[in-house]
Amino acid sequence: MKILITGGAGFIGSAVVRLAVGRGHDVVNLDALTYAGCLENLAPVKGAPGYAFEKVDIRDRAELDRVFAEHRPDVVMHLAAESHVDRSIDSPGTFIETNINGTYNMLEAARAYWVGAGRPEGFLFHHISTDEVYGTLGATGRFSEITPYAPNSPYSASKAASDHLVRAWHETYGLPVVLTNCSNNYGPYHFPEKLIPVVILNALAGKQLPIYGDGSNVRDWLYVEDHADALLLVLEKGKIGRSYNIGGENECSNLDLVKTLCAILDEKRPKNDGSYADQISFVTDRPGHDARYAIDPTRIREELGWRPSVTVEEGLAKTVDWYLDNTDWWQALLDRAGVGTRLGKAS
Ligand code: NAD
Repeated sequence: MKILITGGAGFIGSAVVRLAVGRGHDVVNLDALTYAGCLENLAPVKGAPGYAFEKVDIRDRAELDRVFAEHRPDVVMHLAAESHVDRSIDSPGTFIETNINGTYNMLEAARAYWVGAGRPEGFLFHHISTDEVYGTLGATGRFSEITPYAPNSPYSASKAASDHLVRAWHETYGLPVVLTNCSNNYGPYHFPEKLIPVVILNALAGKQLPIYGDGSNVRDWLYVEDHADALLLVLEKGKIGRSYNIGGENECSNLDLVKTLCAILDEKRPKNDGSYADQISFVTDRPGHDARYAIDPTRIREELGWRPSVTVEEGLAKTVDWYLDNTDWWQALLDRAGVGTRLGKAS
């Protein structure tokens, strides 16, 4: 297949690009290279036959039309988005422009191309979204595909809006679409502003390990390469018009997650005195911080036969190894202008 992947220079998008190219697909990677985009994530596929990069902003409809006309993709995987909840609290406008208006542009460009090409069999617009559209859970229960949407942050509200547009383009115009809503990802190439890299890098630098509130917020962690595998499976076998929740069935509170990371670091890179856990510090909570997310992955498991390949303990150990081995990658990003940490607490 020739796959047009948007946001392919980001954390998850680059994992999808690497996997798709590795499996022999042609890939057109469309990315605006915002602060979160990083071409170094694509070093393993640089120069691979069938791989092309287009520096394009999804807010620019004319450029999207050009890319569709020039590359004539068989299918689309739409991941480009503003993705950091803390940044959405401080600057929601960009999230509305990229996640909502940008997705609208993608849908219209895809529809124009699909209609113009005679509605080819097999064309698909795969929209990649988040479990955060469902809002927050109490101590029990899990998000299924029929859980009502109740987003709480500007980020999740903008993603929820984009999901609704995708559904509407299917119902109204017949555009073949599929949606996926995934839990929190972690793994190699995770941008150093997000919780897990912040903890690893602050620990190594002897800095405090900031945890929001009392650390009781629960997330359902999924190794990014397992997510990429699930996305390609949905692309190939998912039912048109359907949505699939993707989760690792690895629920963990933020405090337990950080303690696990500290224990892994204590073993792999022991300190002279004490444990990295001594650096844990609790900071003012993020406004509107969802208490718990948990995914019910029954549909993707039973209909498509997908399961994650690693446990959270295995995935975190692989992730720590990767950060220990790839100092040049994260140091360059830390040195980038405007890259900060934990912006949400400023609000
Ligand atoms: P990311 O921030 O690491 O990457 C986003 C990419 O999109 C970057 O390369 C950036 O340059 C690009 N981009 C941003 N605005 C753009 C624009 N206007 N035009 C073109 N490109 C633009 O994000 P991520 O964590 O890889 O997330 C990818 C997708 O997966 C997002 O849609 C996100 O909502 C979704 N998702 C993420 C998670 C997670 O845990 N990270 C979980 C579930 C779903």
